[in-house]
Amino acid sequence: MRITSPSKDPTDIQYEKSLRPKSFSEFINQDKVKENLEVFTKAAKKREDPLDHVLLFGPPGLGKTTLAHIIAKEMEVNITAVAGPVLQRPRDLAGILTKLHRFDVLFIDEIHRVNKDVEEYLYQAMEDFSINIMIDSGPAARSIEINLQPFTLVGATTRTGLLSAPLRSRFGYIPRLDHYQPKDLSEIIMRASLILDIRVSRDASDEIARRARGTPRIANRLLRRVRDFADVKGKGEIDLDITKYALKQLEVDGRGLDIMDKAILKSIIEKFNGGPVGLKTLATSVGEKAETIEEVFEPYLIISGLLKRTPQGREATPLAYEHLKIKAPKGKTLF
Ligand code: ADP
Repeated sequence: MRITSPSKDPTDIQYEKSLRPKSFSEFINQDKVKENLEVFTKAAKKREDPLDHVLLFGPPGLGKTTLAHIIAKEMEVNITAVAGPVLQRPRDLAGILTKLHRFDVLFIDEIHRVNKDVEEYLYQAMEDFSINIMIDSGPAARSIEINLQPFTLVGATTRTGLLSAPLRSRFGYIPRLDHYQPKDLSEIIMRASLILDIRVSRDASDEIARRARGTPRIANRLLRRVRDFADVKGKGEIDLDITKYALKQLEVDGRGLDIMDKAILKSIIEKFNGGPVGLKTLATSVGEKAETIEEVFEPYLIISGLLKRTPQGREATPLAYEHLKIKAPKGKTLF
């Protein structure tokens, strides 16, 4: 398991439910998005309307699923959660939509991976709260319209660019979740430590936060791994010393970069003279899928100022050379 990958792994699943903030006030940071959603949910409730469809976008682990659950709670409705790739046939979607109650939230994670045929049905469902389904087959086949209860679709995606324009245009609000600052992640770690009954010093929490790639899911995961070291090698409490020791053992460096992040930067610097290098070529050189580099690794490397995306390809910045302690070759000008 990559300790700093923002994607979910099986051990996260059992913890995430207990750690998930239950209200906007418990949800740390992302103030603008929170404030807007609070207004929209209150307004919808006051008017007795369903909340307009919401598309949450941003890298994995930043709180999209959590916000979808909070929205449902604030609207005092049920939430049905489904992963985009599960919706392969129109029948799969119809089965879910016809079970929704008035104003319920349907949460579709990875909505960009919904099958294209299903997507067409989604348009009508979102717009008119109805769906046409085919019954019978052969000459007797005919389409009937089924009315649905008004509902709110909350979609989550890592990049809006992956969504078709017609689907995107049917959402009333498309907020972007940004990476978190270390001080906010430290607060998230302190909150998680209370829930999980772990004793953590403030400086240890700040240290974990600095190395969590701006991502709450990674912060919570590092906290659990550091606790393992504290239980076995330390006194059971998490202090700065055991934190630094654990993070070193986990090969998470001072900026939160792990082996794959460093492999990407090193490859650009050493194999492609610092770049620019095309995404596909870079992906092949480190043995990773191009989409994974683009969605999982690159966003944090960019906001950390270590990688630049240019029309010609990816480039390592002077900070990347400095961080990896690699000298720029003669004749190479760094910008
Ligand atoms: P996503 O759906 O974007 O991949 P999740 O909503 O599943 O991310 O969040 C991952 C975990 O991170 C959650 O279990 C939650 O404990 C924690 N988390 C995310 N955002 C916040 C936040 N703003 N405040 C506190 N914890 C958070």
